[in-house]
Amino acid sequence: MNHSTLAEDLRRHREDLASELARLTAPPEPGSAIAFGKRIGEGTTEAIERLSTTATARSIATSLADTDRALEKLAAGTYGRCDTCGEQIPAERLEARPTTAHCIRCSAAR
Ligand SMILES: [Zn+2]
Repeated sequence: MNHSTLAEDLRRHREDLASELARLTAPPEPGSAIAFGKRIGEGTTEAIERLSTTATARSIATSLADTDRALEKLAAGTYGRCDTCGEQIPAERLEARPTTAHCIRCSAAR
């Protein structure tokens, strides 16, 4: 795949992830705060913290970080090389997981 096309795809992917994450971790709608405590604000922070650490939010945050890393590597000209051992990552793996920064061996060792 052409690298500038790839960068575009990754940026679009990144935007999707960012808005999804923002939606998941957004504070409750005004008026719904009552559900978290007797007074507005009471327990809300705790509830938001719980929300923002859900498995879904965590996995999106991880994908977001991977996508950022892939974009960094594209910009630096190191895209397709493993971050750990510096070996070329096989094209099939990059096609399957364009945001990966590690070869299969290093990824399994993590
Ligand atoms: Zn490696």
